[in-house]
Amino acid sequence: MISIFTAALLLATAPAATTPATPKNIILLVSDGSGPAQFTTAAQIRGDQFRIGRMPVIGLHTTPCADRAVTDSAAAATTFATGFKTNYEWLSADPKTAEPLETVVERAEKTGKATGLVTTSYFWDATPAAFAAHAKYRREPGVREQMMQHGIELIAGTGLATFGKDGVPSFEEFAKTYGYTAISTREQFDAAKGDRLVISFPSQDLDADPKEARLAELAQFAIDHLKDDPDGFFLLVEHEGTDSASHQNNQPALRAALTSFDEAVGVALDFASKRNDTLVLVTGDHETGGMRISETASRRFRVEYSTTDHTGTVVPIFAYGPGSAQFGVFQDNTDIGKKLMSFVSTKK
Ligand SMILES: [Zn+2]
Repeated sequence: MISIFTAALLLATAPAATTPATPKNIILLVSDGSGPAQFTTAAQIRGDQFRIGRMPVIGLHTTPCADRAVTDSAAAATTFATGFKTNYEWLSADPKTAEPLETVVERAEKTGKATGLVTTSYFWDATPAAFAAHAKYRREPGVREQMMQHGIELIAGTGLATFGKDGVPSFEEFAKTYGYTAISTREQFDAAKGDRLVISFPSQDLDADPKEARLAELAQFAIDHLKDDPDGFFLLVEHEGTDSASHQNNQPALRAALTSFDEAVGVALDFASKRNDTLVLVTGDHETGGMRISETASRRFRVEYSTTDHTGTVVPIFAYGPGSAQFGVFQDNTDIGKKLMSFVSTKK
């Protein structure tokens, strides 16, 4: 029998045999536009069901972009994707030279990992695009075409209505050009097969989940599609509705989006908790609405807003799994990207 002192020393010096220091799989879940007050609201409406609140490591991050105190989603996602800041509305490009900055998805693909980008918005919206495209403007033509050229195993969102008109090929033709199977209906989603899948549902309501599948279903689908890669996987899951609802100062829409997002986090945590090799990160990219919580005369929660735009407050980050301790600090958003890059730098 070893003494308590020896056991403590062993714990302090030897990495635990069962939990690797570096995650094999990474799931990054972004609640767009969510700062402290949005996560407070999520805790309030979810109660005992609040999955994010059960994550053991919590940190904060600062969010300015290279040229402005208050960021947009493209520049914010660039910091997660690359570890560097870029200019407002730019996608993963050097803010001075416009040279492409390598993204965690590009590096993960190079080291043999499977990758996936999932959003409730159109699949080439700023947050997923920053992981797989480089541009001086997020709405520049060619962003979605760039995203198809890295071998990403799953790209999922909405936006179907923009295909097949104004000289743009049909969604099926677009997918085929890059060697992808196109999915745009619930029936195709349920029967989906193939190494590389691109999902573009017809829904255009950014305040809600795609009508064809909730974000939690898309997250489960993505995990199932990526989990058997022997090198591991990197998966981004984004809810855009939390940002658009906050822009509208729309509490019912925000509450619906936060519920959906927390359910998707639950899917990721259920997967990660059954193994010891998966890091789950949950955060916002910036705060939207200047939302604050006070109380009414009858001592109920009162939500107030100071703007319909983004703000520059710090944003919480929650972490679970191998590597999670590194995020339990006060950090810049670029630090998150630098840590992610270090996790996919070597083949596991
Ligand atoms: Zn926004």
